[in-house]
Amino acid sequence: MMFNPTDLLRPHLKQLVPYSSARDDYKGKDGVFLDANENPIGSITEENWNRYPDPYQLELKAKLAEIKGVNAEQIFLGNGSDEPIDLLYRAFCEPQTDEVIINPPTYGMYKVSADINNVKAKEVLLTNQYDLDSQALLSAIQPNTKIIWICSPNNPTGNDVSLEKIEIILKGFQGLVVVDEAYIDFADRPSFTTRLNEFPNLIVLQTMSKAWGLASLRLGMAFCSPEIVAILNRIKPPYNLSGLTQRTVLNALNNLEKKDQMVAEILENREGLQNELEALEIVKRVYPTDSNFYLVKMKDAKEVYLKLIEKQVILRDRSKVVLCEDGIRITIGTKKENKKLIEELKKLSN
Ligand SMILES: *Cc1c(COP(=O)(O)O)cnc(C)c1O
Repeated sequence: MMFNPTDLLRPHLKQLVPYSSARDDYKGKDGVFLDANENPIGSITEENWNRYPDPYQLELKAKLAEIKGVNAEQIFLGNGSDEPIDLLYRAFCEPQTDEVIINPPTYGMYKVSADINNVKAKEVLLTNQYDLDSQALLSAIQPNTKIIWICSPNNPTGNDVSLEKIEIILKGFQGLVVVDEAYIDFADRPSFTTRLNEFPNLIVLQTMSKAWGLASLRLGMAFCSPEIVAILNRIKPPYNLSGLTQRTVLNALNNLEKKDQMVAEILENREGLQNELEALEIVKRVYPTDSNFYLVKMKDAKEVYLKLIEKQVILRDRSKVVLCEDGIRITIGTKKENKKLIEELKKLSN
């Protein structure tokens, strides 16, 4: 049977007439534009932002397609990854009827977005090694299961889950499989974007918020079949990416070496930090990481977290998260920041 994402769509969206923007009706670049009620004179800012941006970000997608080795038609761009996460619920999950599956401990937005959309998120815990439990996952699938959310490298545990198990899910599930690769630049493996043509039910999420250093600009990427892109385009807010973001990122894509340099520096700092953490008396375990943070289990984690805040070193307390008891998530900082972190942790050990 051919996989067709339209079969999974919420019924009322099959008839949806999407908003038609002025930029949909006329696509030429030159002319006297009296069609969108914009300010014809300019902006109150030094630079002019008075014209609505391209709703489909075609220039940016063309450039990203080259860099990522996918077709431009396989790219959806959102206001952070949080936007495609929400849009996937709104497109495919009927409130109080459909279900998704998440694998705690994992990124919190899959559950929050499910709650906001009044959709049940069934939980299948990761194993004790923080890997997917593919057998339990497959058994949890119901006829009304629409999406399985997989985060790899996983937040907050830091590790890649096993790629063979992701494949088992992609092959064994007739709904959508999202692989969130927010931390892919720090992992030593090819992206699942290289498998898009094999799996029509695959959606790969990436973001400019981490390795690219653009958290404030808000740019999330979903790579998937052109059919799924078309569905997301129909329900998204028309101008979801600002002109400022589009232009800034387009310029930044000519500066790829800087991203690579930053990633290399963070990876170097990551390696150095592991031994220093492991040498501390209060540290019970540093988990292996494929991302830009460590999950560290400590004695009295909550206490450590609070003590470090007093020293203005802010960590992420995960000690109340399932399977993360005593866990603190530590982002890899600069050399200087990491030094400060270790100094303060040493003082606590004494
Ligand atoms: C940080 C993070 C994101 C990024 O979200 P944005 O909205 O793009 O900033 C997505 N997924 C995971 C797992 C993350 O940790």
